[in-house]
Amino acid sequence: MSGQEAAVSRPIGTGLEEGDASASEPAELDTGNFEPAEADNESEPVRRMPKLYPIGQMHGTYIFAESEDGLYIIDQHAAQERIKYEFYREKVGQTAREVQELLVPITFEFTAADYETIQEYHDYLKRIGLDFEPFGGRSMIVRSHPQWMPKGREKETIEDIVGQLIENRHVSIKKLREKLAIMMSCKRSIKANHHLRDDEIEALLDQLGRAQDPFTCPHGRPVIIHFSTYEMEKMFKRVM
Ligand SMILES: [Zn+2]
Repeated sequence: MSGQEAAVSRPIGTGLEEGDASASEPAELDTGNFEPAEADNESEPVRRMPKLYPIGQMHGTYIFAESEDGLYIIDQHAAQERIKYEFYREKVGQTAREVQELLVPITFEFTAADYETIQEYHDYLKRIGLDFEPFGGRSMIVRSHPQWMPKGREKETIEDIVGQLIENRHVSIKKLREKLAIMMSCKRSIKANHHLRDDEIEALLDQLGRAQDPFTCPHGRPVIIHFSTYEMEKMFKRVM
């Protein structure tokens, strides 16, 4: 994406689309509050994994670990996605109270229709910590942003928020949080073929152990493959 141009019209490629159309939902804007408790009550039930002890890493991609009940193979990318996802799901929307002032305001250039949408949703955006000010023509500037936005990716994140607003019109805070959390978890996760130091492996396992659902990534792929001690004994025909 180049220079001044805000790519607000592009769809947000999270790779995950919700099944239901947001059009059927009443606008939550007027009543929506941004307290984390609102949306997270009905999130997935807590499924903990046991305490894992690292054995090592394979192909810069998989972490092997053991516990009393067997062997665990962890996809490190999926694991980090899950950790980041839960982190951002918690943070996103918890805003306005903690705002980061920008030294240099970010400028956005909109189409006429998008400009109108931004104006229409001005108060809403302000409540989530984004104060768009008209800046001549179809430009707007933002002088501060919510604290939770990842450093160096502020503009991109704001564009994604705006993109969702323009795309869906009706904004559900819960969905916004979900989508942004998935998007950010992907962008900021370690990729495959990345060697981790022992302390990094331990930190990853520790964080995963505190996740609400350590077993699947936000896209539904497995994070952990588990072979119980019994299954292993069966494979080696130590037991019947
Ligand atoms: Zn994933």
